[in-house]
Amino acid sequence: MSHYFSSSYEESREKFLGLLDTVKHYYPSARSMSHTIEEGTIDVIIGEPPGSRELVLLMTIGEHGIEGYAGAAVTHQFVETQLQHVRHESTGICLIHAVNPWGMKHFRRVNEHNVDLNRNYVIDRESLPRNVNKEYEVMRHLFVPDGVIDDYHEAREHIYSFLGSGIKLDGFEAMKEAKGMGQYQFPKGVYYGGEADEPSAIFIKEVQHDLLERYDRVVHMDWHTALGPTNEVTMVVSERDGRDVDTLKQTYGLANVQTYDPQDVLGDSTNHFYYVRDTHYPDKRLVSALFEFGTFGTSTKATIREFLTIILENRLYFEGTKDPTARNEIRKEFMAMFYPEDAAWREAVLAEGAKAVEHVLRAEELWRAR
Ligand SMILES: [Zn+2]
Repeated sequence: MSHYFSSSYEESREKFLGLLDTVKHYYPSARSMSHTIEEGTIDVIIGEPPGSRELVLLMTIGEHGIEGYAGAAVTHQFVETQLQHVRHESTGICLIHAVNPWGMKHFRRVNEHNVDLNRNYVIDRESLPRNVNKEYEVMRHLFVPDGVIDDYHEAREHIYSFLGSGIKLDGFEAMKEAKGMGQYQFPKGVYYGGEADEPSAIFIKEVQHDLLERYDRVVHMDWHTALGPTNEVTMVVSERDGRDVDTLKQTYGLANVQTYDPQDVLGDSTNHFYYVRDTHYPDKRLVSALFEFGTFGTSTKATIREFLTIILENRLYFEGTKDPTARNEIRKEFMAMFYPEDAAWREAVLAEGAKAVEHVLRAEELWRAR
């Protein structure tokens, strides 16, 4: 199992590019491409059927940098153990490593411009709420790093006091809203969605157009971590898909499925994929979903822990600390949230990831019948 999980971006990239030989076994004309972003690359392995182009499976990882390590493991496992079941004669595959290479390299969730890429695929920038939540100004010390961390425990307590419910300024509600909507006011703040299209988003949008142009059907699995029940996979789908939770659960045989309203979750890349389909290729069929491996869980306590972790990591990055305990504890919590070393979690990633892949591929008829 351990060979699927890497401890650096470079190691993960090398393993990914090494998968080309196995992919060539099924797609002799398979090739890889590298697209430079900042100090790293987005790498693509594409294998296409010689004849008809009915269907393509797209897998993307690392849109949220650090979250890509789990996705890379699932991709690796897919090529080694599941690719043999795919209908190669009619189905293409497009595997993308590290949508946010800088974030993956530096074990951060955002990219080199502090942008949460999954809040960057804004369809209509003109209509962006510049003041998503009126309390943002008041609570900017929650969103924006405010000074060197002198003492870890003090900093935690301070943030806790603003997150706690029942106080006048309900930071918890504001954070929940920002998590979904992103925020477009504070460039150094958490959940920042960016001013303009980021290079990674521009590249992925080209991929979205290209695959919809060339294939009748596209199935997209975008791998993430943190959301949902601990050690389980959760499928997250835009309401633009049109199917409700029960239908999705039944279709894919997955226990955890969530849908979201694109009015409440701005700038999501999978929602943008449906937008491209709806506006340019209305006759094509698309399934595009996020697959999340849960870490902290779904309780309110877990959500508070999540906000605390994100806020402190952001502050540490921008302001630093004089307290070595702070650096260690903050990094440790951030890893526990997005890339735990815990063996049970990693086993679950592989088992749950394989299950999600198989169920989706079977339901979408990409899986060869016995
Ligand atoms: Zn994510």
